[in-house]
Amino acid sequence: MKKIGILGSTGSIGTQTLEIVRNNPDLEVCALAAGSNAALLEEQIREFSPGAAALWDEEAAAELRLKVKDTPTRILSGMEGLLEIAQMDEMEVLVTAIVGMIGIKPTIAAIEAGKTIALANKETLVTAGHLIIPLAAERGVSILPVDSEHSAIFQSMQGENRERISKILLTASGGPFRGRRRDDLTEITVEDALKHPNWSMGKKITVDSATLVNKGLEVIEAKWLFGVEPEKIQVVVHPQSIIHSMVEYADGAIMAQLGMPDMKLPIQYALFYPDRRPMQGKRVDFFELSTLTFEKPDTQTFRGLAMAYEALREGGSMPTVFNAANERAVSLFLERRIRFLEICDLIQGAMENHKTMARPCVEEILQAQAQACDYINGRMSR
Ligand code: NAD
Ligand code: MG
Repeated sequence: MKKIGILGSTGSIGTQTLEIVRNNPDLEVCALAAGSNAALLEEQIREFSPGAAALWDEEAAAELRLKVKDTPTRILSGMEGLLEIAQMDEMEVLVTAIVGMIGIKPTIAAIEAGKTIALANKETLVTAGHLIIPLAAERGVSILPVDSEHSAIFQSMQGENRERISKILLTASGGPFRGRRRDDLTEITVEDALKHPNWSMGKKITVDSATLVNKGLEVIEAKWLFGVEPEKIQVVVHPQSIIHSMVEYADGAIMAQLGMPDMKLPIQYALFYPDRRPMQGKRVDFFELSTLTFEKPDTQTFRGLAMAYEALREGGSMPTVFNAANERAVSLFLERRIRFLEICDLIQGAMENHKTMARPCVEEILQAQAQACDYINGRMSR
């Protein structure tokens, strides 16, 4: 039996993780956590009988506690709840599928408690990678990537000497607006931005894919996961999303992982690594596909990607500001309070406004986040 916990169990990655649990009887769920979807969390509690479950929202947690009185599951809430879940004694692997920087503290807590991390929550690594990676090394904890590109890179590194890596080729679908110019993007609605061509995901990451900020976050995530400098990470637009990423070695050989776009594969790979469990689903049919194509990313139109490289080169607290400004701007866009193109304008403004701290601790990371949000809120009220 492998005992797992899931932060963000009601979301896109969380629910797909639970599908994998349904298909693998040797996985047991011992803890779940979600933001506010009490109805779905209740269903999950009844199906998987975890020892504990947490809701961020205190009131919703209090209501849920009454509703599931007949079950043995303890109901927790707020940050305290997330931290307790992250450190539960019996849990071996924590799937971090929560969205945003809120994942920093629970992820650190889980590493301190020696839990293996199956990491989907990229915002945590982008902002606190300089703390998390050394801490995991010190505690002998594995961080296994769930993000499809990083899983592909990781799979392409098995049995290889990492010193011989010459380049990481991070593939990108290009999102729903690939090929369009800035002028074509002024009237983009929330509905347009939420139509991703190849993947069905949570709203925030879907918008991030449309701005290419997601690819920028992934470049930073790759730097931390694989210890590769930004110059060695190249983004390649590959609209079919069949090649999930590649690694080029010193002799020119390129290793890649291919498959249908289905997040269950990287999630399951992280849960059973180094085993590769069977999985049902459509297979790649090369005759049906016939062509795989590649393009250079258009960083003039999609400035989010260029700004991510800038933030990464600057280092310190700048990736936090890049990420925090994006989190705030995307939620404003989803609330229809700003236009699509303003997301990157706000990120740029927040970065220009920030004085970098070289090696921020968790509290300083959260301060930098608050400053970025204040900056954006200030611009909104003007
Ligand atoms: P989602 O919006 O579908 O789900 C987010 C989950 O986090 C939900 O269960 C929500 O309840 C929970 N949550 C949000 N705030 C919370 C809080 N304060 N406390 C507790 N729980 C909270 O998002 P998603 O698409 O599943 O993405 C999750 C993470 O995985 C993100 O960091 C995303 O970038 C990353 N990721 C997702 C995909 C994908 O295919 N969806 C692929 C790669 C990486
Ligand atoms: Mg990805």
